[in-house]
Amino acid sequence: MKLEVHGCEERYTIEQSLLNLFPGELPVYGPVQPEDESWAVFDCLEDNDGYQVDLRLSWNGRTVSRQARQVLTGTAFQREGQRRHIIGSCFFLAYRELTGNQPPWGMLTGVRPDKLVTEALSEGGTPEEARALLESRYYVTPPRAALAVETGTAAFQAAGDLGPKDIAVYIGIPFCPTRCAYCSFVSQSVERSFALVEPYVDALAEEIAAGGRMVRELGLQVRAAYMGGGTPTTLTAAQMDRILSVYEASFGPALDACRELTVEAGRPDTITAEKLAVLKAHGVDRVSVNPQTMEAEVLQAIGRRHSPGEIEQAMELTARAGFRHINMDLIVGLPADTPEGFRRSLARCLEFGTENLTVHTLALKKGSRILLEGVPIPGPDAVAEMLDHASPALRDHGYAPYYLYRQKYMSGSFENVGWSIPDGACLYNIYIMSELCSILSFGAGGSTKMVAPDRRRIQRVFNPKYPLEYSQRPEKLLANQAAFAAFYQEL
Ligand code: SF4
Repeated sequence: MKLEVHGCEERYTIEQSLLNLFPGELPVYGPVQPEDESWAVFDCLEDNDGYQVDLRLSWNGRTVSRQARQVLTGTAFQREGQRRHIIGSCFFLAYRELTGNQPPWGMLTGVRPDKLVTEALSEGGTPEEARALLESRYYVTPPRAALAVETGTAAFQAAGDLGPKDIAVYIGIPFCPTRCAYCSFVSQSVERSFALVEPYVDALAEEIAAGGRMVRELGLQVRAAYMGGGTPTTLTAAQMDRILSVYEASFGPALDACRELTVEAGRPDTITAEKLAVLKAHGVDRVSVNPQTMEAEVLQAIGRRHSPGEIEQAMELTARAGFRHINMDLIVGLPADTPEGFRRSLARCLEFGTENLTVHTLALKKGSRILLEGVPIPGPDAVAEMLDHASPALRDHGYAPYYLYRQKYMSGSFENVGWSIPDGACLYNIYIMSELCSILSFGAGGSTKMVAPDRRRIQRVFNPKYPLEYSQRPEKLLANQAAFAAFYQEL
């Protein structure tokens, strides 16, 4: 879309709104020409009386105009937010008039729509006030506003249970048996990178050992730990045993208040009784089995080499191992899936009795096979039908939503929602999505997030992205841990 912008520096806000409202359109800046088919002209003016935006938006042969004006108040930071809101709402309202569409999350463009709820509750607001704010100020549809209030409230409650020295730990295993069609993660297929696994485990063990010592010296407490990927169970039972042993030994008393240890056993074709026994022996209390679908055709379309029957076997094996909680994941909008197919997949997960089910909406990332090869996927109406079925079906079975996030390029601009039965919520999911505490990450691609106890300051450091580079750069891992220690020493 051609963008002609006068009198404003808020290109980021304009581009985020464009991505939200017109997902296929890329921004091109310059004067609008008669031959341009889709365009927007922003005339922005700030004077002593406030901030004014005049917008003309043209798409599919129709043009609409919108004007918005507001007095700016407060600090420079607050005024910045007000400018962004005026531009974003003007763009949204023009879009809605032009297309007649109502995006489910209104003009919100961020990954955490329930953050506004958690903030409102922290400032003494009520859930009803938070819901009204989402609907009237951000044009969020009533069902999505209600959803955000539920998950935002869960985050608010979880925050109340965290002390200033509480942190979470993430251990990343960036290997998978094969690569899924929708994946853009740096995860390596073990078929192609078998030789990298053992050196990776060596480097990871060292990084965890150093991290555990540091956490003990800083007097921090781990409240939740999560081993994810990739697919951690791609490792052998002996490799998993080694990593978990190092973790326990090096963190020692810093794990005394730990409330959960979760391991993703994502791909059913990696789950064996031997590996589950190792997890059980190390006190893992939550295992995540991620079928994504229970439909044979869909599994094939996304590049999984296992059948629904193998998922069933993996689920039964995991249930027999006796973990306190089992998490499962489904994805709405996968290639070759249909609303009927999704219903069957969901019904099977519910029958299995998982405590925790995350319903993702397919998000297409650059580098995924679906985009590279143009694999057809269900349209927004089918995606909406699947999600509309999931929500009441889960509630009927006693589940409530407890965490929520959005990603760029999600089918139909919807969301990912974690559902759980009472007391079944995975705390790590809430901590990370709502940025409630620091996350100390180990492994390739790990992003360590340092969150000040008042949550007003967040810093990040990143580990090398790829397994080989990760194994070869221990100095970078130590530098990241030094940054983490310095953050806490300065507090
Ligand atoms: S299991 Fe997850 S990380 Fe591994 S290839 Fe599939 S989508 Fe990517």
